[in-house]
Amino acid sequence: MFICKKCGKVDNFNLMFNPEYKGEKNIQKSIDKNGNIHITTDNYTFIPDINFMNKHAVCSYCGSIYCWGISDR
Ligand SMILES: [Zn+2]
Repeated sequence: MFICKKCGKVDNFNLMFNPEYKGEKNIQKSIDKNGNIHITTDNYTFIPDINFMNKHAVCSYCGSIYCWGISDR
């Protein structure tokens, strides 16, 4: 799980992408039984890491970008 360092919310289901993200916009998200986010885009599935988050993910609570840390919650 990732935590927004700006507002302190742990974002799991509501992950959004930076509008400047140049990749495929047809994105599906799911959560596995261990609580990890899986992102599927064009039949390619991956687990986003903190580096990916800080390049592409927008906090859906406060709208901040490049603001992610790791949460073990
Ligand atoms: Zn936030």
